[in-house]
Amino acid sequence: MALEQVLRPQDFATEVHNDWCPGCGDFGILRTIQMAFAEMKMEPHRVAVVSGIGCSAKTIHYIKTYGVHTLHGRALPYASGVKLANPHLKVLCLSGDGDGLGIGGGHFVNAGRRNLDMLYIIHDNGVYGLTKGQAAPTLKLGVKTKSLAHPNINDAVNPIWLALAAGATWVGRGYSYDVKHLRDLIISGIRHKGYAFLDVLQPCPTYNDINTKDWYGGEDRKDDTGRAMPRVYKLVDEGFDPVVREPADVEGKTTQALEKALEWGDRIPIGVFYENELTPTFEERIGKRIATYADHPPALQAIGTRDGIPVTDVGRLLAALTVPPSA
Ligand code: SF4
Repeated sequence: MALEQVLRPQDFATEVHNDWCPGCGDFGILRTIQMAFAEMKMEPHRVAVVSGIGCSAKTIHYIKTYGVHTLHGRALPYASGVKLANPHLKVLCLSGDGDGLGIGGGHFVNAGRRNLDMLYIIHDNGVYGLTKGQAAPTLKLGVKTKSLAHPNINDAVNPIWLALAAGATWVGRGYSYDVKHLRDLIISGIRHKGYAFLDVLQPCPTYNDINTKDWYGGEDRKDDTGRAMPRVYKLVDEGFDPVVREPADVEGKTTQALEKALEWGDRIPIGVFYENELTPTFEERIGKRIATYADHPPALQAIGTRDGIPVTDVGRLLAALTVPPSA
């Protein structure tokens, strides 16, 4: 596809049948990813989107770029491998909150420590939609959705807190029904130099009848004029500045982000909580250790001749990894 043709969101749409439920918040996330790619004039062959398992994971089938639908909870390590093999690719990773913060919780922490230059999006709806709505890690303690026999007995993970504590250098939250705002967040996360984590509030109308579009929009509480009072508000509208400009800013910017991340209920902030490009990326650290890495990463190296004969010298590799016996 010629670059000049790749300007519309629909140019990133596949013809794969979509079987999400009507009204699912996943539609907004899919659309905004396609809008962001179009806006950024991304070339499909330079983009890889990796997903785990769940309703969210189907997203990769509907985006016309490279895509891999991997194992439950393992999207992040797979995406990390893709990025390390070819750091010239733009890599997006997608999970649900069950996929990414439940079974994939350990990977979530270690992705923050590494600071690979990629964007990780969690479709956050509080339930395991694909398996009939069991409580997922972000569902609050005591909440009883229509899919649960009893109120949730576990406390919830706060994804923003966890991402900050793990070391993510860009942390944001979007809302799947605020499409333009979410598109801008995705663009910002992709452009960020380092690991960007984006939590997206994504109503699941089929199994979560508590955190619905109407609930986020405040339809259950009206002001004196009868207008709904939305719970979701934008950080930028209140002058929140998330950017670390010098090392001395880190403590203060982290603290204010943690404080904002505690807001929930009547007021739910969306936008960029934290942004820090002072930390070296994992690729930069590897480049210091292996001088040829940036120009000759593994995916761009020949692994065989035209006749299929391997060119890899396993002997050299093993020799380099051998620990000499102690004297
Ligand atoms: Fe969306 Fe929920 Fe249906 Fe899954 S079960 S497609 S998350 S509405």
